[in-house]
Amino acid sequence: MLKATRALARLREGNRRFASDQAVASFFSSPARRAELVSGQEPFAIILGCSDSRVPAELVFDQGFGDLFVIRVAGNVVAPSQVGSVEFAASRFGTRLVVVMGHSQCGVVVAALEELQGRGGRQSRNLRAIVDRVRPSVETVVASRRDADLETLMREGVRANVRASVDHLRHGSELLERLIRNDALMVIGAEYSLETGLVDFFDGVPASTGRSERRRAGRA
Ligand SMILES: [Zn+2]
Repeated sequence: MLKATRALARLREGNRRFASDQAVASFFSSPARRAELVSGQEPFAIILGCSDSRVPAELVFDQGFGDLFVIRVAGNVVAPSQVGSVEFAASRFGTRLVVVMGHSQCGVVVAALEELQGRGGRQSRNLRAIVDRVRPSVETVVASRRDADLETLMREGVRANVRASVDHLRHGSELLERLIRNDALMVIGAEYSLETGLVDFFDGVPASTGRSERRRAGRA
């Protein structure tokens, strides 16, 4: 798992640079670097994130061309094509770390919440397919936190949705399950804060690589 824990450390460092306005990645996106990558790639992490325009994975982790294999879909949901994309990168490039990254104020989680509270509008069949994947996690949060305010439901809904996607990747593919069993793949969950620019790795992080940023900062 050394390769995965090193990859995680690289993401943490990059995010710290980004959040403190000390990003260096433009240096790694030069024409020379592009030319180097024509013959192949070896991305060190796979990021499954939301398509939200405010959460561009490469910028948030301060990485350049060839560093990250990024899958973006509204609500960072896992459907067969997302599982297939992770399988592709893990088996073809030997990438050992997968991060499912949700974010604060996620519109798809809001849509699922509104629907559960009877405030949802009509959705196309295609959009439905996305919201339907988010709804069960949000539903569990709503059911267990009857007195919670909207902001709390929102926050917990985002995390529950990330956990569901992590769980799906860990158990929804024979190939990924085998890699995980052989210590050749790590799948973890994270949340990006629109407010602070920081990514909190909160699900499935090995104890030796540091605790959740949120807990470290003493915020519960
Ligand atoms: Zn989102």
